[in-house]
Amino acid sequence: MMAAAPKRALRIRSGACKDAAIPRRLDVRWVAMTATVLLVEDEPSIGMLVRRYLERDGFRVIWVRAGEDALVELERHAISLMVLDIGLPGMDGFAVSRRAGGRVPTIMLTARDEEADRVAGLEGGADDYVTKPFSPRELTARVKAVLRRNEATLPADDEVSLGPLIVSRGRREVWIDGREIELTQREFDLLLHLLERRGAVVSRDELLERVWGFLSPGETRTVEVHVAQLRKKLGRPELIRTVRGIGYKAAG
Ligand code: CA
Repeated sequence: MMAAAPKRALRIRSGACKDAAIPRRLDVRWVAMTATVLLVEDEPSIGMLVRRYLERDGFRVIWVRAGEDALVELERHAISLMVLDIGLPGMDGFAVSRRAGGRVPTIMLTARDEEADRVAGLEGGADDYVTKPFSPRELTARVKAVLRRNEATLPADDEVSLGPLIVSRGRREVWIDGREIELTQREFDLLLHLLERRGAVVSRDELLERVWGFLSPGETRTVEVHVAQLRKKLGRPELIRTVRGIGYKAAG
C-alpha cells in the first residue's frame, strides 16, 4: 500500500511576509520536501530501492557508488543528510564520515549486525545506523527522524540575515528574495563567514585560513574566484563589496 504523497508546503519566509502569525519554522513535512539526501551505496539493487523510496517521500536524492565521489558531491551541493554504506570499494564509509568531519547528519548502513561496527559508526560521527537487510520504509522513517532531530536542535540564532538574504547555519540553506539558492560547501562557508563578520572588512588571508583551513599568502586568487562565483549565484553583487587592497565586506 502506498502512502499518500504529502502536499507540497508553501514556502513562506519571515523576510518575505509581514504577517506575524506565520511561524518562522516550518514543519517536518516541509523539511522532507526540500531536503537533499546524498546516498552512498555501491550495490545497485539497494541503491535503486532506497532512492525510489526517498524520492517518493519528496526527497531529492544524489546517488554515488564510491566514497571518493561522495566527498566531491559534499563539496558541490548543500546536502541535508547522508545515507552512507560502510562497505564500499576503495575508501570505506568510516573514512568518508571522518573526511566529512561531522558537517552533515549521517545514517550508516552496515552489512553485519556487529556491535563493533555500530560503536565505530556512532563514534565516527554517525547519527544513526541501519543494519542490512533493512526495509526501505524503516530507513526512510529514520532519515526523517534524524532530520527532525536536527531541526529541533537548531539554536534560536540559527539564521543570519542581510537585507534580502537569509542563511540557516544548521540547515545550510541560503535564501535570497524568497527563493532558495544552491551553493557549494565552500561557497556556503565563505558567505557565512562574511555574514558573521558583517559590516567589517575581512581580509583574503583570513578567509583562506577560516574557510579553506590554511594560510598561504600566494593562494588568495582562490578566494577571488569563489567570491566571484558566489556573487553571481546571489544575483546581488552589492551584498559582498570589495575593499580594495584588503578583502571583502558583507553589507546590506
Ligand atoms: Ca556495499
